[in-house]
Amino acid sequence: MSLPDMHSAEPIPAAAREDIDRLLTSGDLFRYTAAENAPVSLLEAEFAEMMGAKFALAVSSCSAALFLSLKALDLPRDARVLIPGFTFAAVPSAVMHADCLPVLCEVDDNYRININDFIAKLPDVSAVIVSHMRGHTSDMDAIMALCTAASIPVIEDAAHSLGTLWNDRKIGTMGTIGCFSFQSYKMINAGEGGIMITDDADLVARAIIMSGAYEHNWKKHPVLQDAFAAHQNKWPLYNLRMSNLSAAVIRPQLPHLAKRVEDGRRNHDHVAALLDQSPHIHVPAPLAGEVRAPDSIQFNLVDLTDDQVAAFVDAAGSQGVKVQVFGASTDNARAFWNWQFIPDLPELPKTRAMLMRACDVRLPVHLPTHTLDAVADVLLSAVATATKQRAA
Ligand SMILES: *Cc1c(COP(=O)(O)O)cnc(C)c1O
Repeated sequence: MSLPDMHSAEPIPAAAREDIDRLLTSGDLFRYTAAENAPVSLLEAEFAEMMGAKFALAVSSCSAALFLSLKALDLPRDARVLIPGFTFAAVPSAVMHADCLPVLCEVDDNYRININDFIAKLPDVSAVIVSHMRGHTSDMDAIMALCTAASIPVIEDAAHSLGTLWNDRKIGTMGTIGCFSFQSYKMINAGEGGIMITDDADLVARAIIMSGAYEHNWKKHPVLQDAFAAHQNKWPLYNLRMSNLSAAVIRPQLPHLAKRVEDGRRNHDHVAALLDQSPHIHVPAPLAGEVRAPDSIQFNLVDLTDDQVAAFVDAAGSQGVKVQVFGASTDNARAFWNWQFIPDLPELPKTRAMLMRACDVRLPVHLPTHTLDAVADVLLSAVATATKQRAA
């Protein structure tokens, strides 16, 4: 059978059209023109409520949210920020953009932060960014206990993990700040967009001003006005605002999130159970306390040579399933050695070994069971083909 386009997104709910038509007719696309109830402001209120956070600030991307988070923490120039060695290049980029220096932490072969390396590097940093990759989370109990004890702020990069739970708490609500993406490959799709949440009024006030709430536009944010008094005219305006059109595309998707997360998890676990039958494929289990929100599957190839890994990718690709081995695909943005804009880029042996065997396959949440079965069949037959070849 032929497999569907694995990058196709969910259709935007029809409810978005009415709001978008209204915006197109009025031309009211800027979030601060209307006196109240601009779609961006409504999105912020709805997202904060959904997450159980006090404040939300919608911006142009998750990268912008990460950058503003670091700026709002008011870290000194060249402050060191601990980030995982396995994340998207946007994360070290946001750190550099904020005039800080990324410090890379080892990641285990289950894609989560290596806590021993985290402990070793924590004393040298002023802030931490935890990336919850692909709907998985690291051990947030250990990370938050260590950072709280050391008074180090934590930014949760939950760009691709909206809906993941850790001991019944929502990912993105445990750190000082949580950041999420609405780029097309994430659970909620507006093409581009991001949002940050926090319970800290002073911090969000600084981020709101720097996001581009020039003059007294901050009055349109439901944050105690006292929080702004000290900040007027004190911060650069980076203009990373969200447009009303993006908010109009995002808002009607929020009620669909729970079902997307449930479908994504069911699909992931269905394929994982089939793949785990092969002695050459290992799908890492969730951590105790973790309920994942995947729209893709990651697994490690076991006991394959580099040539066999390449043969596996070719065999799967020729049958319509695109597999990315994070460390083996050229210029992959999640392979730390490609972040050559970082000064004194370190070596991370554990993370490198993981990246050379870790595979990534998209599983859009709407795939029906027979397609999931076909994807698993392709992957299992590709691994059989690859392991029949003799090591070169
Ligand atoms: C997608 C992603 C980002 C970047 O999000 P943008 O909205 O595209 O800036 C950052 N971190 C992770 C883990 C991501 O998956």
